[in-house]
Amino acid sequence: MTDRHLLSGTEPDLARDAGHPEPPPRVGFFTDTSVCIGCKACEVACKEWNAIPQDGLSLTGMSYDNTQGLGASTWRHVAFIEQQKPQVPAPDGRTRLPLVEAESDPSDGAGGELRWLMSSDVCKHCTHAACLDVCPTGSLFRTEFGTVVVQEDICNGCGYCVPACPYGVIEQRPSDGRAFKCTMCYDRLGAGQEPACAKACPTESIQFGPLDELRERAALRVDQLHAAGVDDARLYGHEPDDGVGGDGAFFLLLDKPEVYGLPPNPVVTTRDLPTMWKHAGAAALSLAGGLAVSFALPALLGEKRKGTR
Ligand code: SF4
Ligand code: SF4
Ligand code: SF4
Repeated sequence: MTDRHLLSGTEPDLARDAGHPEPPPRVGFFTDTSVCIGCKACEVACKEWNAIPQDGLSLTGMSYDNTQGLGASTWRHVAFIEQQKPQVPAPDGRTRLPLVEAESDPSDGAGGELRWLMSSDVCKHCTHAACLDVCPTGSLFRTEFGTVVVQEDICNGCGYCVPACPYGVIEQRPSDGRAFKCTMCYDRLGAGQEPACAKACPTESIQFGPLDELRERAALRVDQLHAAGVDDARLYGHEPDDGVGGDGAFFLLLDKPEVYGLPPNPVVTTRDLPTMWKHAGAAALSLAGGLAVSFALPALLGEKRKGTR
């Protein structure tokens, strides 16, 4: 019997706590956005492997981003963020980072050069996944690899998971109401293969592997970038004691998470459920007690009166 809070906090034994007796090491993604070139091979590979319908090819006015965000038919989304930044001085003999830059326009007053931040977003496969906590059918489940999968043949389209996700990842498909998101290619993992998006990424911006190893690799990469003068490089979603207990898919970013449309301090939305149920239970007991007293008291007083006559 564990005295740990299973809906929040650190969770060292995720798959076993989910009922897998002999699980393999937990796996995940480390997405290093500093080497993403925005080729969208990951988006295409995901669509191809999972036979996901097209999103429609529209011009969004947001640089080369034509899908805008994750959704029922977009399980990988490559964001293109254009921003003006002061130049980062590079140590002698090194390439200045970020690699994509353009001539600055002195007339705009913003200063600095134009840079592109490109980042391939995906479901975070949260340690504490509220989507899974609220799913009434068992369509969402925790795999032996520690990932979170939604099963399209079991989903009943209730939509509870959609507002529960603190990242706005999972979405219902308008045509039939069922919810879809990245499965971390559960079928490929079962066959000993890496996910299709990681396999297709030509720059290894998407790295797949045991989560512990990825966290170590990511820490070294941040040190390397800081040494190269990229002081804004930071990790996002890697801390096992954050509001969701750490993400199974975490990122190296070159600016604040908000710039990429990511919540700065996500918290599992079911964190306070046990406290709420406790309060609701206490309130129900008080109500029942009050009702019992209000019925029993007049009866008792009546008996007493009869006795004194
Ligand atoms: S990011 Fe959202 S959809 Fe993905 S596991 Fe976490 S709560 Fe579920
Ligand atoms: S892991 Fe598989 S399902 Fe998830 S984004 Fe990559 S290709 Fe798509
Ligand atoms: S993550 Fe890799 S495959 Fe996806 S856009 Fe970036 S470089 Fe291309």
